[in-house]
Amino acid sequence: MYRTHYVSETKGMIGKEVTLAGWVHEVRDLGKLKFVQLRDRSGIIQVTAKKGREPDAVLAEMNVPKETVVMVTGVVTESKIAEAGCELIPSKFAVLNEITAKVPFEVTGKVPADLDVRLDYRYVDLRTEKTAAIFAVRSVIVNAFREKALDSGFVEVHPPTIVEAATEGGADVFKLQYFEKEAFLVQSPQLYKQMAVIGGMDKVFMTVPVFRAEKHNTLSHLNEATQMDFEMGFATPEQAIDMLEATTIHCISRVKEKCEKELKILGRELVVPQKIPRHTYTELVEKLNSHGVKFTWGEDFSRETEAKLVEILGYSTYFVTKWPTAVRAFYSMPSEEDEKICNAYDLNYEGLEISSGAQRIHRPELLIKALQNRGLNPSDFEFYVNAFRVGAPPHAGWSIGLDRFTMKICGLHNIREATMFPRDRVRLKP
Ligand code: ATP
Ligand code: MG
Repeated sequence: MYRTHYVSETKGMIGKEVTLAGWVHEVRDLGKLKFVQLRDRSGIIQVTAKKGREPDAVLAEMNVPKETVVMVTGVVTESKIAEAGCELIPSKFAVLNEITAKVPFEVTGKVPADLDVRLDYRYVDLRTEKTAAIFAVRSVIVNAFREKALDSGFVEVHPPTIVEAATEGGADVFKLQYFEKEAFLVQSPQLYKQMAVIGGMDKVFMTVPVFRAEKHNTLSHLNEATQMDFEMGFATPEQAIDMLEATTIHCISRVKEKCEKELKILGRELVVPQKIPRHTYTELVEKLNSHGVKFTWGEDFSRETEAKLVEILGYSTYFVTKWPTAVRAFYSMPSEEDEKICNAYDLNYEGLEISSGAQRIHRPELLIKALQNRGLNPSDFEFYVNAFRVGAPPHAGWSIGLDRFTMKICGLHNIREATMFPRDRVRLKP
């Protein structure tokens, strides 16, 4: 057995023998005494070896560079100097793997490293306290999402990632050779989650990778991202927005509850919203213009305009509903009163779009018209359109970008920090 306990479990185990395994975090050699900080996922403990004292003399004489992988057996002993209030007096010490290359940067965080270098060596960066905290938070978010979905009666599904038709249309797709045919990587699970609802599954959810061949290099876009999706049959747009609001609040509140230590490491004071205000697109355009920001109805909001809106509204978390049909995906349902407006919605969290959704078109003739309006060829979407001819209920749904949500919850400035192995315009490894 490599370990009997994690470091954090040794608290309160004074006098007991444990076996721990992890990395050498720091070493201090005072001649007669040698202090080795042993780090595992849960924390750091000081291992104190004394020259001339058996059986720990072996370690006292040993050269163990930082980040060496080790295993130590010893007795947990009270200590006045060690930060944790206890230390380990080793009886057995083994090097499980030696360091044979230069460790690219300080895992202690004492010397800051560039993000690019950290990403080149992500497997080392993940050992730092801050990066580990980010991925602990991300895991809580995705589990809170799943918990909310299951508690609300949703069924988890797994749509394909290789497809024949480009979901969102346009040029931002990755092509690949699929035997004799050309295929694409999915831009979103959209069409498939709709077909699950048409199939009578009624309420489905999924966490899936999506691929966007967008050439721009921004702080909030990746070329491979992870989406958390809901799709609801027989649901009005308002019911879908209510679900999105409740799910978002649930995720934030779970992080607040379960990640106290991580949020502290990240220096983040997380506020759990009680309710998220809703504004129509038209209302926001009017607000912009009445505050002297020239903005034409029908345009999409730029990042600059969104920043202005935050200033005007006095808060940065809000819904935008009832968008111009022309700026939304082809499958968004036009409103009954005015076909220039559709029943689509976005959620901006702390100033960034983290989610988009819509009531979907469930009538085939309307769908064909919408495809044609976008310059898309309905015959490319035949399998999809046909699904609406054999009993498609009205439905609505949405998608939250997990990378962006994690970024904002953790208070990060760059989405790459919130993704373990980010894929951007230039980064394809590790
Ligand atoms: P944007 O307008 O910001 O480029 P989008 O409207 O194209 O995003 P959607 O198709 O609405 O994105 O995707 C749903 C959600 O998935 C977004 O709200 C966002 O959180 C996330 N997302 C979309 N594209 C990306 C991307 N390239 N990188 C990271 N997350 C993304
Ligand atoms: Mg969007």
